Parts: sequence; C-alpha cells; structure tokens
Amino acid sequence: MKEASNSNELFKRAQHSIPGGVNSPVRAFRAVGGNPRFMVSAKGPYLYDEDGNQYLDLINSWGPMILGHAAEVVNEAVQKAIPNSLSFGAPTRKEVEIAELIVSMVPSIEKVRMVNSGTEATMSAIRVARGYTGRDKIIKFEGCYHGHGDSFLISAGSGAITLGVPDSPGVTKGTANDTLTAPYNNLEAVNILVEANKGQVAAIILEPVAGNMGLVTPQQGFLQGLRDLCDKEGIVLIFDEVMTGFRLAPGGAQEIYGVTPDMSTLGKIIGGGMPVGAYGGKRALMDYVSPAGPVYQAGTLSGNPIAMSAGMAMLNFLKDHPETYQQLERTTASMVAGMQQNMQQLGLSYTINRIGSMFSIFFTKEQVVDFETAKTSDTALFGRYFNSMLNRGIYLAPSQYEALFVSTAVTEELVEQYIQANLESLKEAQA
Ligand code: PLP
Repeated sequence: MKEASNSNELFKRAQHSIPGGVNSPVRAFRAVGGNPRFMVSAKGPYLYDEDGNQYLDLINSWGPMILGHAAEVVNEAVQKAIPNSLSFGAPTRKEVEIAELIVSMVPSIEKVRMVNSGTEATMSAIRVARGYTGRDKIIKFEGCYHGHGDSFLISAGSGAITLGVPDSPGVTKGTANDTLTAPYNNLEAVNILVEANKGQVAAIILEPVAGNMGLVTPQQGFLQGLRDLCDKEGIVLIFDEVMTGFRLAPGGAQEIYGVTPDMSTLGKIIGGGMPVGAYGGKRALMDYVSPAGPVYQAGTLSGNPIAMSAGMAMLNFLKDHPETYQQLERTTASMVAGMQQNMQQLGLSYTINRIGSMFSIFFTKEQVVDFETAKTSDTALFGRYFNSMLNRGIYLAPSQYEALFVSTAVTEELVEQYIQANLESLKEAQA
C-alpha cells in the first residue's frame, strides 16, 4: 500500500471549501479514524485512489454497483443516451418503460413516480400517506435510516412510547412530535404506540431488512405483524427498500418475506449508479400524487433520460439474469463462512448477520436484533479492524453501523484474499 499523500493533501484542501471535507458525512472516516481515500476510478471489484492504490470494494457506492464498477451493460446504455441531450424536462418513452419494468418486478408497486434520491422517495411517500389518510403521525424504528428528511432524523427518547426528539439541530420540535419511534423487531412496542395514538398514525415506515444499524434481519412474524396491524388500523405500511430493492431479489425484501406493503421506496440500484430514487404502491395511494391527485411532488430532473437509461439497463439485466442472486448468495456465504472459521481459529465469537449479498460483522457477542443490541458493539475495535483491512487493500464501510454490499465482480480468488485479510486484521485489531 502506497502512502496516501495525495488523498491527505486533497482532504486538507477540501476542508476549506466543503463542510468537513466531504459531500456526505460517513465518507469522512470520523467513526474509524484516519483520512478518507480520494478515488479516481473503479472497474469491476476494484477502486483506485489518487495515490495509485487498489482496493477490493465491499461498499459498492453504498449499494448501487451490484454488478461491480463500470459494468458494460450500464455504461453502454449511458453512452448511447448522451448524444440525445442530458435532459429534456418533458416526458420520454424511457420513463414509461422503466415504470412498467418496476411495476413488473416489485410486488407492491402498481404505479411509480421517479425522483432523484432515496431521501426524496421517503419524504414523498410519507407525504402521500399523510395526504391520503388525513393523519399527521408516522412510526419509524430506532436505527432505521430513511434519508435526511426532517421527519426521519428522530431517535427514540427513553422507552418506546416517548415522543421523538430531534437528532439534528434544525429539525423542529413540531416535526419531531409527529414521529414516533419503536425498537426494531418489537411488535409489542408498535402496538402500544398505535393504541396510544389511535386514529392519528398515517404510516409505519421501516427497512424490511435493516442495513443502517449494521445488518439486522426481521424476526419471524415481525413484518406480517406490522401488515396485520396496518390493515386493522387503516395505516399505510411503507417498506423502505432503497437498500434492499433489487439487491436481495428482483422484487426486494418484500418478495423474499412474502409480505406486501402499501407503498415502497427505492433508490441505489434503481439508478445503476446515477442519482435516482422512486416511490410507488397501490393505485389508490399513487393516484393521490399530483397531477393525478392533490399531494404535490415534482422535480426538474426527475426521470432524467441518462439516469433512466442507466437504471433500465441495470434492472433489465437483473430481471433477465435471476442467477445473479444465486451467485451473490454463494459468494457472500463463503466470505462469511471463512470469517467464521477465522474467528474459531482465533477463539473469537463476534456476531455476523447476513442475508443474500448484505452482511455485517458486529464486534459484540450478543445476538444483534435491534439498535440497542447493535450498540453493544466495540466500535473502537471496529475502527482498528477497518484500518487493518484498508491497509490490506479491502475497502469496508467506515462505520460499525453500516452493511456491506457484495458485487458479482467478486471472484473465488478474491473471496480467498478477503478471508486471509480478515484473519490478519482480526488478529491485528485485538492487539
Ligand atoms: N433509505 C434507506 C434505507 C437508505 O439506506 C438510504 C441511504 O443510504 C436512504 C433512504 C436515503 O437515500 P439517499 O442517500 O439516496 O438520499
């Protein structure tokens, strides 16, 4: 590994003109120590930084690059679209086609609206739910992230029934009061919240598989329990599948768990690496969106032709190649099996959660089922492990509370390299 002198220099420069030197906070490496690496290019499984270092990438742009970087099928579609203008601000055939494709893939979606990010998708979805039900409150889960919309930057106070307090200055008390929070996987807490706020809850929103407190899967009956409760109380159930959509299966987590929400939000893979999000759901709900209905939502660049071309190429590939998911399952399972063997060899027993091509290692012995248990992780140890892996050319998410994403570009040989680096880094981090 070469000195990160160019990256360090750029990071120093960046502090003068960009808040914290980055355009999205976790990129700054504050949770793990050290300076971020500035990237120049990426191809297949690898990222290349300003100092000529190569890294095996296990973030994949936080999820979108499921086929690895610079996938030809996506790049070709983009190149083909560019000469026809970067944006029209008028409807196009591609928007119709991608909408039809999404409707055909995602069980809950009968109609869909394209936006420019996951944040826009979740903000818009709860606006629709509120407009449709005429109710103000929403329930979210501790440790779930739904982008940076004001309503979502709320954590539980002490106990599940307490009203939210803002996580971030700038979120008003009024907004916080309309966001109720419950522990993930705790149906009882949700029942109590709904009972205490009878007739006032517009939506329950969650990551059906949570990736933003590290990876946490839903326990048996949790998603179905929420579905039943929402049906009984007239609450709109929203699955935020910005991470899991097209990643766990062509139809996302809802396909795997067989529970269909009223609305879904999408992002990441749907843009193939371009800035795209989407929200969709039952016809009756989506017909509330302007100009069909009264709930306003718009976007200068929504449905952008280049972004739609990238997204279409990606989704068509995944739809036509279902074996992609079996490949990802095999690759990721062998990475995790290797890590487990390493831990056995070293007498360690940390927790690894995995589903499909998403996984997290938590530096705790506890089973991780919610944010409280995720927080038992030794984050200082994670920081040392992260840096050991980085020094061995493995690029992980720079925080304990993130999931890792595996791409189809990871070969068996790279799995072996990863497992070896994991063994050495586990040893080094304990010291
Ligand atoms: N929802 C989930 C589940 C996410 O993981 C994210 C981002 O990581 C978002 C929403 C926000 O998406 P974006 O960063 O595109 O605004």
